[in-house]
Amino acid sequence: MNIGLFGGTFDPVHRGHIAVARAAMERCKLHRVYFVVANVPPHKLRQSHTPFAHRFAMMALATAAEKAFVPSLLEAPEELSGAKPRSQKPNYTIDTMRSLKRSFNKRDKLFFLIGMDAFCDIGKWHDAEALFRECEFIVAGRPGYSLADVANALPERLRPRAEVTRPFQRQAATGNLVLPGATIHLLADLHQPASATAIRQAISSGKSLDRFLDPLVSEYIKKMKLYRAT
Ligand code: ATP
Repeated sequence: MNIGLFGGTFDPVHRGHIAVARAAMERCKLHRVYFVVANVPPHKLRQSHTPFAHRFAMMALATAAEKAFVPSLLEAPEELSGAKPRSQKPNYTIDTMRSLKRSFNKRDKLFFLIGMDAFCDIGKWHDAEALFRECEFIVAGRPGYSLADVANALPERLRPRAEVTRPFQRQAATGNLVLPGATIHLLADLHQPASATAIRQAISSGKSLDRFLDPLVSEYIKKMKLYRAT
């Protein structure tokens, strides 16, 4: 089976996320996509987030209609995941990917889904090189970010020579970048303008960006009075 892992704060999950998962599924023939709601993403340790339980509930609602989409508790806080207590440490993606891998067959192939904005920082991630060894990447274009920057964003030791990446150094870069130590599939034509920050800001100033939300998620946000200015 081909399995996708899509991690994020999902605060809240929106149509942009769902579009990335659908496009990745089609492109790489994924049988399942796990949406891993982050508890403490290491790079956002200083920001406050909506409690995990709300972000997970919204994810469950947004993925309910699609059999292949699974809301994942892999990074849930201990009290919610049912897992044995362990030392409190940030959840690194490499740990999550390895524990997902352990639960599958050796023949299963893993893919990591990510938007280009987040991929720009991949070189700073904990053990990034190992993550490229564990799985193939599917990088989705996002308004304001160019897929032409994919090769430059790689951890230094994986960065290829310029000749190799020339075909990808165009705004409309597409296809697959296959390098020693990294395979990257580019999803160029998504152009999804949805952003969780914009959705939160709109709601807190009394506006609505419902068009970017699943109706069930939008209803949940209203019921639970999330993102309102206090
Ligand atoms: P924020 O706007 O607060 O940064 P976000 O909308 O990017 O939030 P995250 O939960 O941080 O949501 O994103 C999870 C993953 O989804 C990241 O890899 C991000 O790049 C990707 N992503 C989010 N929105 C889009 C989009 N509109 N198009 C492509 N990728 C996206």
